[in-house]
Amino acid sequence: MTPDHPTEERWFERTLDTLRHAGPLGEAMATAIAGGADEYTGGIRRTHRTRLGFARQSTGACWFDWRRLRFGIFLNADYAHLQPDDAWLAALLAHEARHLQQGVLEALSVRGELDAWQLQYDVLERLSAAPHDPAWRELCALVPDSRANLRRARALMKQIAGPRYRIGWLPLWPLPAEVGYQLRNAGQRVLRAIRALP
Ligand SMILES: [Zn+2]
Repeated sequence: MTPDHPTEERWFERTLDTLRHAGPLGEAMATAIAGGADEYTGGIRRTHRTRLGFARQSTGACWFDWRRLRFGIFLNADYAHLQPDDAWLAALLAHEARHLQQGVLEALSVRGELDAWQLQYDVLERLSAAPHDPAWRELCALVPDSRANLRRARALMKQIAGPRYRIGWLPLWPLPAEVGYQLRNAGQRVLRAIRALP
């Protein structure tokens, strides 16, 4: 963990502590963020630490800081005055940490978002802070194996997060898979049109 300031470091340590007590998934995500899990790359041990901080943004949290062009987990700067052991903040850390695990392409897809939202809900539930909104429950029951389910997930996320949440910009699948699907679809449409010619 490499926050920008020592006071922030203590603040985030308490948020991570809350996450550590949010069931097995929460604990695993806290470990991944704090750098407790060793990664072996080419036989060399690396302890990966996630940068944590605040950033001005229209969303609750993000995994890339556009102003300083760096990966990490950045909470909305307005949250700095909240109690760091707030369950919602721990769940946001887990959500963004999952995006970092997914990698850029998966994170920038509705499928990646659904996975992160479901993890966020699991953490909230473990901390007895699950939202009562039925849209959340429906979202969490969706399996990401069909495009219809992902379309439904996108609609539910919009409903929950409000119109400023730009999920409509993301492809349902990660971009290369989405482009492949759209090209196959367009090709089939052209073939059908040709066959229908007199
Ligand atoms: Zn997300």
